[in-house]
Amino acid sequence: MPKIGNISNTKKIIDDNSFFIKKKFGQNFLTDQNILNKIVDTALLDKDTDVIEIGPGLGALTEIIASKCNRLLCYEIDSDLIPILKNNLSEYSNVEIINNDVLKCDVNKDIDTYFKDSKRVALISNLPYYITTPIILGLLEATDKIKTYVMMMQEEVADRICSKPAVKDYNALSIAVQYRCKATKEIRVPRTVFVPQPNVDSAVIRLTLHEDKPYNPKDEALFFKLVRGAFAQRRKTLANNLSLMGYSKEYIYNALEALGYDKSIRSEALDVSDFVRLSDWLGDNK
Ligand code: SAM
Repeated sequence: MPKIGNISNTKKIIDDNSFFIKKKFGQNFLTDQNILNKIVDTALLDKDTDVIEIGPGLGALTEIIASKCNRLLCYEIDSDLIPILKNNLSEYSNVEIINNDVLKCDVNKDIDTYFKDSKRVALISNLPYYITTPIILGLLEATDKIKTYVMMMQEEVADRICSKPAVKDYNALSIAVQYRCKATKEIRVPRTVFVPQPNVDSAVIRLTLHEDKPYNPKDEALFFKLVRGAFAQRRKTLANNLSLMGYSKEYIYNALEALGYDKSIRSEALDVSDFVRLSDWLGDNK
């Protein structure tokens, strides 16, 4: 029987501890045991896997993860939740909780400290939605030690991350994530299974880090700058967006012609490797 993740247990824990739910921390607690199990199953855990969880909350996902993994390291910003978590997870000796803002932590270093001789590191989180993008982009930039990410987020953001080129959801975030990972949408989650209910539906995605580094721009900083600039104004063509970055139209048209693109091509038509080619051309032809 779950100790935490159903509606009556969640409400009881909140009442018994006189816990005050904080909207500013994106606190929406998941209360559906079936969905909680599916999320953890999506990460394909075994007893060799060490797991990072961001935002354990009351511990609903945490208790399932802890029973299936090797070591579990959690980051929780809300100090009011720490005694509740410790109490709810008292039977698990493999859980470590860091009471801090994950965005201020050096996760790469923490992996070395807490997961010595690790065979595999995965991340599982029902993310605080207000910082979904900085958490994902920050972690992908900071570490290559996490091989699998299973994360719940607002469905709209999940669709962007997993989107293919030429679809309306496709943007700079899709490219920045797909540059490093294979991204797949796994589970749709209705707003009704949370306490309190959010205003949006959610989805769980899985990111699998590319092991073979398929994309190798000569200048990674230029690649990312270009990707951000190309999508700055959704209605504009690629050439118009790049000219807003300070490049002359003539220079951009030369680049597009050399790479075999139409002058009026839109940024969403380019996939990750197209952006690599474009950034390499701009770097080589300054
Ligand atoms: N895992 C729980 C669940 O599924 O029921 C709670 C998920 S709730 C959507 C997000 C959690 O992230 C909350 O516990 C919140 O306090 C925590 N959180 C918010 N901002 C954070 C941050 N910057 N660093 C670490 N945890 C954060």
